[in-house]
Amino acid sequence: MKTIGLLGGMSWESSSEYYRLINQGINRKLGGHHSAKSIMVSVDFEEVKHYQHIGEWDKATGLMIKGAQQVERGGADFLLICTNTMHKMADDVQKAIGIPLIHIADATARTIKEAGLTKIGLLGTAFTMEEEFYKGRLSSRHGLEVVVPEQDDRQLVHDIIYRELCLGKIVAESRRDYQQVIEKLIDKGCQGVILGCTEISLLIKHEDVAVPLFDTTALHAEAAVAYALEEDEAEIGRPCG
Ligand code: GLU
Repeated sequence: MKTIGLLGGMSWESSSEYYRLINQGINRKLGGHHSAKSIMVSVDFEEVKHYQHIGEWDKATGLMIKGAQQVERGGADFLLICTNTMHKMADDVQKAIGIPLIHIADATARTIKEAGLTKIGLLGTAFTMEEEFYKGRLSSRHGLEVVVPEQDDRQLVHDIIYRELCLGKIVAESRRDYQQVIEKLIDKGCQGVILGCTEISLLIKHEDVAVPLFDTTALHAEAAVAYALEEDEAEIGRPCG
């Protein structure tokens, strides 16, 4: 079994989900008392959020590279960055380390394609919904048609992530807000929706909506479990970049 490297803390609410999911995933495959071999470096999210919101992306990249190198030095065989947003600098992180990075968008796209879907809604932070590093990868590398909410709804989705979900606050009214945003994406022809922020699955569950949801936290963790056990290595473990 390979040792899974996790760059977490963004936020720790979702990192604890990663930890639970990879351990459950390994145990499901191996049984007994088996659990995942893993190393997590967890950053101070306030620092990361500060650099994101003032647009100091070089400093944010520096934090990610430092954390990834700590994970590598700790003995991990490969790396997950436990957030969609901070895949903005995934290529820079990959260049700075000698172990492969499993990209969250690739792990997600693979499952969407296996389900036979082509037109997909995307919810996440404004960075993830609006910039090319994520949507562009889904379309150019994986041939998916990606639809994001209108501006007002993007703001709503973004604010709920930072003001509630990353602080562990689960609010029923926000769940209804997300359901309405998802309904509008379905009206636009989306066959499914990517929960493209690792905390959204704390709020919205499969039974809350009428189309398939693609939970990036669960799919990323699942890809890590498969790679750790060397299943389908060539397909899943392709280094980023
Ligand atoms: N966990 C979130 C994501 O998946 C947002 C936190 C962050 O800004 O990294 O994008």
